[in-house]
Order: sequence, then C-alpha cells, then structure tokens
Amino acid sequence: MRVAIAGAGLAGLSCAKYLCDAGHVPIVLEARDVLGGKVAAWQDEDGDWYETGLHIFFGAYRNMRQLIAELNIEDRLQWKSHSMIFNQKEVPGTYSRFDFPDLPAPLNGLAAILGNNDMLTWPEKIAFGIGLVPAILRGQSYVEECDQYSWSEWLALHNIPERVNDEVFLAMSKALNFINPDEISSTVVLTALNRFLQETDGSKMAFLDGNPPERLCQPIVDYVRAHGGEVHLDSPLREIQLAEDGSVSGFRIGGIKGKEPQQIQADAYVSAMPVDPLKLLLPEPWKAMPYFSKLDGLVGVPVINIHLWFDRKLTEIDHLLFSRSDLLSVYADMSNTCREYEDPNKSMLELVFAPAKDWIGRPDAEIVAATLEELKRLFPQHFSGDNQAQLLKSKVVKTPQSVYKTVPGCQQLRPDQASPIPNFFLAGCFTMQRYLASMEGAVLSGKQCAAAIGQSPLAQPGAQSRANLAAV
Ligand SMILES: Cc1cc2nc3c(=O)[nH]c(=O)nc-3n(C[C@H](O)[C@H](O)[C@H](O)COP(=O)(O)OP(=O)(O)OC[C@H]3O[C@@H](n4cnc5c(N)ncnc54)[C@H](O)[C@@H]3O)c2cc1C
Repeated sequence: MRVAIAGAGLAGLSCAKYLCDAGHVPIVLEARDVLGGKVAAWQDEDGDWYETGLHIFFGAYRNMRQLIAELNIEDRLQWKSHSMIFNQKEVPGTYSRFDFPDLPAPLNGLAAILGNNDMLTWPEKIAFGIGLVPAILRGQSYVEECDQYSWSEWLALHNIPERVNDEVFLAMSKALNFINPDEISSTVVLTALNRFLQETDGSKMAFLDGNPPERLCQPIVDYVRAHGGEVHLDSPLREIQLAEDGSVSGFRIGGIKGKEPQQIQADAYVSAMPVDPLKLLLPEPWKAMPYFSKLDGLVGVPVINIHLWFDRKLTEIDHLLFSRSDLLSVYADMSNTCREYEDPNKSMLELVFAPAKDWIGRPDAEIVAATLEELKRLFPQHFSGDNQAQLLKSKVVKTPQSVYKTVPGCQQLRPDQASPIPNFFLAGCFTMQRYLASMEGAVLSGKQCAAAIGQSPLAQPGAQSRANLAAV
C-alpha cells in the first residue's frame, strides 16, 4: 500500500519506518525545510547548533530505544549517572541529588528518595509514600482516573503539604509539560512516577550525542528510502481532499520555494502533524464528528528554549539540572553533556524557559536578560565580583504551540490512531498511547498508527488499491 504521511517529526518518521517493515510504501511530506518537528535544530553563522528543545531520553523509553537499536545507532545515546540533580533554592550554587543505587525497582527509587534529606522531611516522605499506594496497587487504571485532578489538588486530597510541591513537583511539572502543578493533570505526574518507580532504569537519562535532525531523524529517513519509501521537505499539506463518500481522495501539497504544487494519491493517509495545525486543516464535513470535535480541547502549550554561550566553563556537571527557578525549568551545560557540542574551555547552557505564556511575545533580548538574572542564583561564583563570566552570544527559539497542554480532563480527548474515516489515520504525541506527550510518545504513536493501518480493511488481501487505480 502507498501511505501518504503529513509531518516528519518523530511520529511521522516512526510511522514511515514501521510501515516499511510491514512491506508498505510511505511518502512523508514535511512542511518545513528541516526534519524533526519539535526536535528540529539549526546551525548559526559560526556553525554552532541551536535546538527547538533541550531533549532528554529516559530508560523508560522502550519504543524509542528499540527504534534506535533497529537503526543500529545505539552508541549515539550518551547515558548519564542514574541521578536527578536539583538546584538548592536556599543555598545558591549548590545542588541536592537523588542518587539511584544499583538495586532493582522499586528499591532503587525508594533508596534514592529516602537517601535525600535536603528537600523532603521524613513526615513528608511518609505522607507522600502513603499517597502513592493506590497508584502502585491499582496501576494505570487509577492513574487514568486521576485525570480529573490537577497535581496540586491530588496532593491536597492526600494531605501532602504544599511544601512538597515547592521542593520537588514544581520543577517536575515544568519539566514534564512546561506548566505549574496547579495546572498539570495528576495523570501526567503519576504516569512518570510509575515508570520511574516500576522500571529499574526508568529514570536513567541520556542525551543524544549531537543535533537531532542529523543524528536521530536522518537515519530513519535513510532507512525509509532504502526500503522504497520517500521523504520530502518543503512540502506542506494544504488540503485534505474528500471523495463523495467522505473518505480521503488526496492530499493537496503546496508549492513552495519554486516547487510545483502536487496532488498526492495513496491508499491510506496519515496526519502526523501537531494537533493545532491538524485542526485548521480538518475538512468541514468531519468537524462535527466527536472523534474530531474533541480535538478542540487539545491546545499546544508555549515554551521557549534558550542557548547561552559563555567565555568560560561555568560547571563540570555532565547531567540534566532542575533549576527550581521561577522562570526556568530544566537546563544543561551542553558542552559537557553532548559530544558534538563539547568544549573543554567554554560553556553552552541550554535552558528551557517555562511557563512561557507571559514571555512568548516578548523580544529575545528581554528573555535573555531575565535568564541571566536567574543565572546569578544558579552560578553565583561566576556572576558576582570583578571577573564575571561574559556572554559571547545567545539564541532563543520560541514555540508558541508545542506539545498539548496536559490540563485535567485531556486524557478522554486524545484520539486513537484509527479515525472514523476508513482511509485516514493519526500519529503524533497527542494521540492516545501509554506515554506522555514526549519523544517516546511520538515514536509509539507512529508505531501504533502503522499497526492500525496494517490491521485495517485497506490492508486485507483483495482490497482495491485506489492509488493504483488512480495511476492506471
Ligand atoms: C522545549 C521542548 C523540550 C522538550 N523536551 C523533551 C524531553 O526532554 N524529552 C521528551 O521525550 N520530549 C521532550 N519534548 C517533547 C517532544 O519534542 C515531542 O513530544 C515530540 O518531538 C513530538 O513529536 P511529533 O512527531 O508528535 O510532533 P512534531 O515534532 O511537532 O512533528 C510534527 C511535524 O509536522 C509538521 N507539519 C506541521 N504542519 C504541517 C503541514 N501542513 N504539512 C506537513 N507537515 C506539517 C511540522 O513541521 C513537524 O515537523 C520537548 C519539546 C519541547 C518543545
């Protein structure tokens, strides 16, 4: 079968890869001139890379890790020590660590939590442990039920002091969805905690060894092309065209940068676009169908990714750091964590600025200035006195609508990969899969989408190939 896929983010590329494995022919059509969507990256005038987002791979990412193994590029993941490192609020420039010892889950997680006495008191740890019992005993069904509560509400329901939020979950909630605990659905936090506590290496973190378009996306494209598929950049989907029976008759692809507009015909069609552009392209007759109308409740959350290059080394820490700052979420010194960005003498900090709702419309210079103010607390030794670190250059990447905002009630809005239209399917981290809006979720959604196409009547022996008929 020929399958047209709009979007070359991780979901679209993963869908194409698994369609190839099942003997189908994917044609991937990407609007922009870069692969990767939310993992896209670019080079500046000096050849330095800057990215849409600071990206962490977790041990719990089974589908991503399997894909990477199938592409034979496992050496590109740089695994870090099994720890979580938080900046201490009260003592600027210092860190508090959760170190996971070499024990099976959940013992390693419990030992990490019990071993940290900087952030949580014993009564807080006990209250929190008791609160987690239903999640541990009842698993995912309990976690799903909790989608009616924000994380702050969940903590209050379990009599867990608000201080626990300030100490740990403010940072975690911003890292998971770029919003605060009073907004984020408790399903999201509980899902992450479940993975971290149930899988021995679930919370272990890795960085990619270089820029994601070349180091992660290109190998998928090479695989797809080697198996007869196609991947085209600068090919935006402009219209989902309908046949008289309401099914898809073609994708109209815009002609940009001197390219001719195209009509793409296939046996099956996939949107692997984010939910926001998908909603804009839905054909009028589909909009009233509950499957599509509920997408209105899924809306991309704004986030900003900042890169700061300094004239010296600010830290030797080779890991992700939770800033616990008002304006920032997580950050890392990429000159330590990522082989391609390595520099023994200078730091390149990559920082996620969130929540970004009040900042996304402001000029880059204001955002950089506010970030530098925060660095005085994170690196006081380098931003006080006579010999202060000098900023050499900066890059700000704004994403006004990134992953969908995971507020309470969203789980029931997430669509299955198979739509009510027999030849139209969805992939994307917002679609229903057991992981969150993440790289793992995107890869899994693409895999599930390929499986849904393979199981559909379209793929059954004897099904007429519309694309072949059209070609006759
Ligand atoms: C700042 C930031 C930090 C993040 N950190 C992490 C992290 O540490 N770990 C993690 O797991 N996840 C992280 N994520 C989330 C992760 O990047 C996403 O969940 C994942 O990459 C989404 O993949 P996707 O394929 O579903 O969507 P996308 O990556 O958005 O891909 C959709 C593609 O569709 C294309 N498209 C849009 N309109 C059209 C059209 N009309 N025609 C054709 N193509 C179109 C887009 O250009 C894009 O390439 C982060 C995201 C951001 C923004």
